[in-house]
Amino acid sequence: MNCEDTLNVNNVYDSAVPQVSFHASIRQYKVCPGSELVPFKSDQSYTRLLDYFTESIPKGAIKLNSEVVKIFWKGENGITIQTSNGEQMYTKFVVVTVSLGVLKESARKLFEPELPHEKIRHINLGAMGAVMKIHIEYSEPWWPTENFEGFGFVYGDVINYDEADAEKDWTRFILGMYKVLHRKNVLCMWLSGPAARKVEGLEDDRIMADLANFLRKRLSKRYPRMTDPIDLKVLGISTRHFI
Ligand SMILES: Cc1cc2nc3c(=O)[nH]c(=O)nc-3n(C[C@H](O)[C@H](O)[C@H](O)COP(=O)(O)OP(=O)(O)OC[C@H]3O[C@@H](n4cnc5c(N)ncnc54)[C@H](O)[C@@H]3O)c2cc1C
Repeated sequence: MNCEDTLNVNNVYDSAVPQVSFHASIRQYKVCPGSELVPFKSDQSYTRLLDYFTESIPKGAIKLNSEVVKIFWKGENGITIQTSNGEQMYTKFVVVTVSLGVLKESARKLFEPELPHEKIRHINLGAMGAVMKIHIEYSEPWWPTENFEGFGFVYGDVINYDEADAEKDWTRFILGMYKVLHRKNVLCMWLSGPAARKVEGLEDDRIMADLANFLRKRLSKRYPRMTDPIDLKVLGISTRHFI
C-alpha cells in the first residue's frame, strides 16, 4: 500500500492496523465487549453529565480553579492541602485523580513527605504521550454521508516521530479523520506525538491551510467536491495540569 492510499474505516481504531506493525502493548490490548463509543444525544453535552454527578454534592463543597501545590499527608491531626493562593484545607482523606502525566511531572514535589519509593517507581514506569483531536468544520460534507466512518491515513515513508519531523510537516502525523455524530459538517482529526505539541503553537488559519493542502493531495481526485475547512476547535491542550 503506498502513502497516498486511504482506508475508509469501519471503526475509529481500525485505521491502518493490518498495514503497519505495532508495539506489543498495542497487540496485547483487549477490546471490551459492547460498543467502544457511547455518544451523547444531539441536544446533550459532557457538561450535562457533570451536572448529573454534581447534583447531589452540597453547593460550595466543590472548589474550582484551586491549584493544589502541597499535600501534607502524614500530619498528626490528618492531612493538610495547600493551594497556590495560600489557602489551607484540612481533611482525613485525599483521593488524587490527576493524570499520570501530571504525576510524572509533579509527584515528587506535590506530596510532603515524598511518596514511598515504590509508588514513585511505578509512576515513572508508566508511559504518557500527547494526543489531540481537532474538530474541523466545513460548509457542507464533501465526504460520503452513507456507510462512512472516516478516513485513516497510511504512510509509506519512514520518519522518526520526533520534534524535527513534526517541525518539517506536522500533517505527516495525522492518524485519520472521522465523522462526528450529530455534526454532519464536522470531521474529527486525531493527531499524536510531537505534532500535537507543534499544532498547539499554530494559528487556526495555518492549521486549516496545512490540512486543506494535505487532504487535497490525498483525496481530491476521489472527492472532487472537496472544499476547504471554515472553522476548527482544538480539543486536548497540554497545560501543566493536563499532560
Ligand atoms: C484529545 C483527547 C480527546 C478525548 N476525547 C474523549 C472523548 O471524546 N470522550 C471521552 O469519553 N474521553 C475522551 N478523552 C479521554 C478523557 O479526556 C479522559 O479519559 C478523561 O479526561 C480522564 O479524566 P481524569 O479525571 O482521569 O483526568 P483529567 O481529565 O486529566 O482530570 C484531572 C484533573 O486534575 C486537575 N489537576 C491537575 N493538577 C492539579 C493540581 N495540582 N491542583 C488541582 N487540580 C489539578 C486538572 O485540572 C484536571 O481537571 C479524550 C482525551 C484526549 C487527550
